Amino acid sequence: NTRFTGIKLGPPIEVFALQKTFVDDPHDNKVNLTIGAYRTNEGKPWVLPVVRKVEKLLAADDLQNHEYLPVLGLDAFSEAATSMLLGPNSPVIAQGRAFGIQSLSGTGALRVAAEFLNRILHYDTFYYSIPSWENHRLVFTNGGFKQAREYTYWDEKTRSINLEGMLNDLRDAPENAVIILHSCAHNPTGCDPTPEQWTKIADVIQEKRLFPLFDSAYQGFASGDLDKDAYAVRLFAERGIEFISTQSFAKNFGLYNERVGNIVFVLTDTKELVEAKSQLTLIVRGMYSNPPNHGARIVATVLRNPELFEEWKDHIRTMSSRIKQMRVGLHHRLLKLGTPGTWEHIIQQIGMFSYTGLNEKQVQHLRDNYHIYMLRSGRINMCGLNESNLDYVANAFNETIK
Ligand code: PLP
Repeated sequence: NTRFTGIKLGPPIEVFALQKTFVDDPHDNKVNLTIGAYRTNEGKPWVLPVVRKVEKLLAADDLQNHEYLPVLGLDAFSEAATSMLLGPNSPVIAQGRAFGIQSLSGTGALRVAAEFLNRILHYDTFYYSIPSWENHRLVFTNGGFKQAREYTYWDEKTRSINLEGMLNDLRDAPENAVIILHSCAHNPTGCDPTPEQWTKIADVIQEKRLFPLFDSAYQGFASGDLDKDAYAVRLFAERGIEFISTQSFAKNFGLYNERVGNIVFVLTDTKELVEAKSQLTLIVRGMYSNPPNHGARIVATVLRNPELFEEWKDHIRTMSSRIKQMRVGLHHRLLKLGTPGTWEHIIQQIGMFSYTGLNEKQVQHLRDNYHIYMLRSGRINMCGLNESNLDYVANAFNETIK
């Protein structure tokens, strides 16, 4: 017997388990539609050229060193990231009512935000959409929240948002409940509220005094347009609602393993700003002390230099338009094959993911017979598709569904 005897085996994390099975699969035509990372038309990861360029500049700069960053990270990064989210002419920034702190990518941002909301503001109930990114629940529970609740989001029949269901669930939520919202490119459904729908959501949140937590993991990556993808967050800011938004630079900068994130706080009053920052400093100090430099330095350099910024915006257009092309390509092929069912949702959905509507049995069939890997829920990563495998995947879908 050791002290570790009796530890129970935790459940596998589906997306990573599938990734491993995929890598170990020797089949020639295997297709990976699981993990949420961008791939080129050649099926390869893409280091954005502007990122490579800045890395070389940084490597050649003898003034760079490896000293600790401050607990809340690089100011130059947080300021640039906050302005990217709220807009360069944001009134809340001009009024000094917004600030950002660096975090360990989007997940770390959510974890620190959860702990702040729970320990400092004493909120204990959070709501996440059904379905949602599967990590929201774990992060908020580990962050101290006692009550995990769900709100309606997806309508299986129409393959779109069930807005009435969502609004009803929000109306039933207790005051101060934290409502996790995906600011754009909802994961996994790829379905976002329209501007009119966002207005209705904001109305209920304001009326019922709920606390919105935006998770912004795909700004610019979704539509190719930074402003469009920040519509919801900016609407809430404009309406004078207080909120927190987490930001991830994993997808839009292709900096997955560098853990570059930011947490934006929007307050009504500047009075509590110093106090809030002091509490955040203690939370971070007791969790990981201070964040890493490399990725944040890259993002700050790009966002603050007009030429590099333009270059990067070109990259996000490249990525988002390739994804849109794959949507069109898959949709077109399924129609041509006469695959049973409606497929409009494939081209209407936005972002990296598509909720195909395939059921678990079909998903299993595709893996066993075609070596095509996707989540049990039928979610696929569009980036796994390319000109060389579109026909193969469309045919496999067709044969499976028929
Ligand atoms: N939130 C959503 C909705 C996501 O899809 C992801 C990544 O898949 C994240 C947050 C956080 O990712 P990361 O911690 O890599 O920034």
